[in-house]
Amino acid sequence: MASLICIVCPKGCHIEASKLENGEWDITGNSCKRGYNYAISELTHPTRMITSTVKVNYNDGEEHELVRCPVVTSSPIPKEKIFDVMNEINNASVDYPVMMHQVIIKNVFGLDVDIIATREIN
Ligand code: SF4
Repeated sequence: MASLICIVCPKGCHIEASKLENGEWDITGNSCKRGYNYAISELTHPTRMITSTVKVNYNDGEEHELVRCPVVTSSPIPKEKIFDVMNEINNASVDYPVMMHQVIIKNVFGLDVDIIATREIN
């Protein structure tokens, strides 16, 4: 038996899940199909979006207010890869100027997911 709180919408349904002998899941407590899909995803292949920041290289010898650029994964990544992807992000940097949605790391860790800028620094 597993207990989850659905995070798909603000209602936050408390979901109970138990695995049946045939390998399928019995899901209760969800108020809609999206909650069912969320529970199945969490139980079988949990994923997360990652937000972080990347160092900006100005290369002009001057001081700047914005020294890091906010970034996000282009789609959710497997939960077990979060540590590896965070390491890649922490070791990355981007040259000024930075465009909105600019790809900072392409195909991070071979996951077919990019790390993209979420603001323009120009
Ligand atoms: S199960 Fe449906 S109604 Fe409940 S929190 Fe999830 S999305 Fe919202």
